[in-house]
Amino acid sequence: MIPLREARKFVLSACQPRSPDRVRLAESLGLVLAERILASNDQPLFTNSAMDGFAVRAEDTKVAPARLKVIGTIMAGQVPSTTIGPGEAVRIMTGALLPEGADGVCIVELSEIQEDGSAVVIHQPVAQGAHVRHKGEDVASGDDVFVSRTRLTAAHIGVLSSLGLESVLVYPRLRVGVLSTGDELVGDATKISEGKIHDANRPALLAQLRADGWDAVDLGQIGDDESAMTRVFVAGSAGCDAVVTSGGVSKGEGDLVKVVLEKMDPAMMSMEIAVKPAKPFAFGVLPTFGTPVFGLPGNPVAALVSYELLVRPALRHMSGMLNLDRPSLRAIASEGFRRLPDGRVHFVCVRATLQPDGAIGIEKSGEQKSHVLRTLADANALAVLPDGPGVRSGEEVEILLLDVDRLEAMSNRGPTFNSA
Ligand code: AMP
Ligand code: MG
Repeated sequence: MIPLREARKFVLSACQPRSPDRVRLAESLGLVLAERILASNDQPLFTNSAMDGFAVRAEDTKVAPARLKVIGTIMAGQVPSTTIGPGEAVRIMTGALLPEGADGVCIVELSEIQEDGSAVVIHQPVAQGAHVRHKGEDVASGDDVFVSRTRLTAAHIGVLSSLGLESVLVYPRLRVGVLSTGDELVGDATKISEGKIHDANRPALLAQLRADGWDAVDLGQIGDDESAMTRVFVAGSAGCDAVVTSGGVSKGEGDLVKVVLEKMDPAMMSMEIAVKPAKPFAFGVLPTFGTPVFGLPGNPVAALVSYELLVRPALRHMSGMLNLDRPSLRAIASEGFRRLPDGRVHFVCVRATLQPDGAIGIEKSGEQKSHVLRTLADANALAVLPDGPGVRSGEEVEILLLDVDRLEAMSNRGPTFNSA
């Protein structure tokens, strides 16, 4: 058995970031910048009003109440045609260009317009610069806005768009192929027969890849058949940045993934990793396009845990991300997590919940067997139990948080602003 850390190092070194590519802003959510963004213009672009109200000369309102002549209205998007002189004001809307002569805005709530609209009474002195957003005060042209390797969220896309950008240089979105192997997998889901099973891994892996932001490509399912597997690997290597298979990496008769991989990549690694579940694993790089292949075990929990521990970090690395792992948090065992020493790190499916004191408590989400996928479905985290006797109730445990949304949901808590 080799330590997880070693398997991971081997895999990461063979999965380098892809060459950057320019994509439209609309396609960039979740991708990682491969360039530094400098502001090509000022933000705000021009000095404008932060509120609906009246643009005034602050000195005209020193003695309040002040009565000013209203000489016009400026809506957002319009260019003012007048300059404000002594004793004058202009009705102005949020985001509208501040007219020449004005140096402050009185908000509507502190003013009273005369019925015919020709004059306004300002109730309080307006400070110079009040409710004015100055050209370039948020971002000056030429400023650094985002560093390279920033992962783009909705807000980043908004900022880039407000700078007038329409495309960005990013690490491209990966296309990841998923293949299920095994003679026992039923071809037509409506015609299950004795000894056959439905495919759980391929739909689950395709879904997880999409949830993680990649394009998932369904490469179908094949029996334990060398030539079929070779064909799919060749096709997958041409159309995908990476291929993920499940089944056929253990020591059984029909376990052919490593046999086929070895013929295509003599440097491939078939390993036993010191973890439970997900001990068997194979990894190789297909010739021609250098496509990595991840051979996951067939048991569904093992396949998905293997994905979490090895595939997801490697794909994130290929996507230019610097942060490769799920959040690692400290939790308190709400029950005993006993185990026997066996030279392996155990990953236990748990329900993590927020306690009233803000700590995270964990309990097992069900039977911890590598074929009982429902236990993982009922979990929102994996508890990490290093080799040894495990932990007692009340002791601290490291967890990998798989789903932040479900941490809230399982805790039966919502934001404080929603509570009565
Ligand atoms: P293997 O890794 O091929 O030895 O398979 C280990 C176990 O996982 C066996 O019980 C298989 O039937 C099961 N298995 C393999 N592939 C899948 C799959 N795609 N969906 C559900 N179970 C599977
Ligand atoms: Mg099999």
